[in-house]
Amino acid sequence: MAPTGYVAALDVGGTTIKGAVVDRDGRVVSRLRRPTPPRDRGTGEVLAAILATVGELTAAAAPASGGGIGVGLVVTGIVDERRGLAVRSENVGWRDVPVRSLVERATGLPVGFGHDVRAGTLAEWRLGAGRGLEDLVFVPIGTGVSAGIVIQGRLVSGGGFAGEIGHVDVGHGEPCACGGHGCVEAVASAAAISRRYAAASGRPVSDAREVADRMAAGDPAARQVWADAMAALGLGLAWTAAVVAPEAILLGGGLARAGRLLFEPVGQALDRHLGVVRRPRLLPAAFEDEAGVLGAALLAWEALGRAAPPSSRKS
Ligand SMILES: [Zn+2]
Repeated sequence: MAPTGYVAALDVGGTTIKGAVVDRDGRVVSRLRRPTPPRDRGTGEVLAAILATVGELTAAAAPASGGGIGVGLVVTGIVDERRGLAVRSENVGWRDVPVRSLVERATGLPVGFGHDVRAGTLAEWRLGAGRGLEDLVFVPIGTGVSAGIVIQGRLVSGGGFAGEIGHVDVGHGEPCACGGHGCVEAVASAAAISRRYAAASGRPVSDAREVADRMAAGDPAARQVWADAMAALGLGLAWTAAVVAPEAILLGGGLARAGRLLFEPVGQALDRHLGVVRRPRLLPAAFEDEAGVLGAALLAWEALGRAAPPSSRKS
């Protein structure tokens, strides 16, 4: 079947499944979201929700695409793209689940499969703020902190483990959900900022942005929590920059909406830590929380290209 005008793209996160119908140029023509079933209901329920989403998206895309369609699916956690495995996900409860082949078998469609952050990196690199760069790092900051890494024009996977900068000990000593201490993520994720502010002030907040607003209004607890986050992030990114030497670090995810309250202190931390090392530009990522789903669409196009003999490609 020839590649067509649209693909169905899904980004399966710990709380939400984001779905979109996407065209060849990365334009989203329709979207849908549904909650990810809680992990205690088992992997079968998550797969059922994925298949239901694929069904709705392909139904939405099929009339315009002439019937044939590809699926792109990215998931959170440790992912082995080559073998099509969700190796491990604390949020979804997966252990070595062959997601790609399960979805291919159930749908009869070619499936491009990957990791949410690496796929998001692909989207930012091909379509977004990283276009034209050979060396870049994309860091979405939301419930966690991790990095997608492009070195000399290649997206690095490391067997599924590359870029886990959220779980490096930067010395602050606080415990992390991973069982370690001092992790970047334990103070610098958007979730950690909200949680630590609530603990320090006794006032719950809806998200990290609210902590930023309170800091701007002069709240000392907010200022301390924010400063801790920026210090941990700055150190983690300085190490990353020293190892990878990216031309740019793209900051995305929910926390990037804090704008200069994020970019200024992190930029100053890089200046302070890097010295003779090339100091990367800090840029806002282009796609907010849609990088993963756009990356899934790019993987779907690749899968369609593999499934179709070159002579039948319309292009
Ligand atoms: Zn950790």
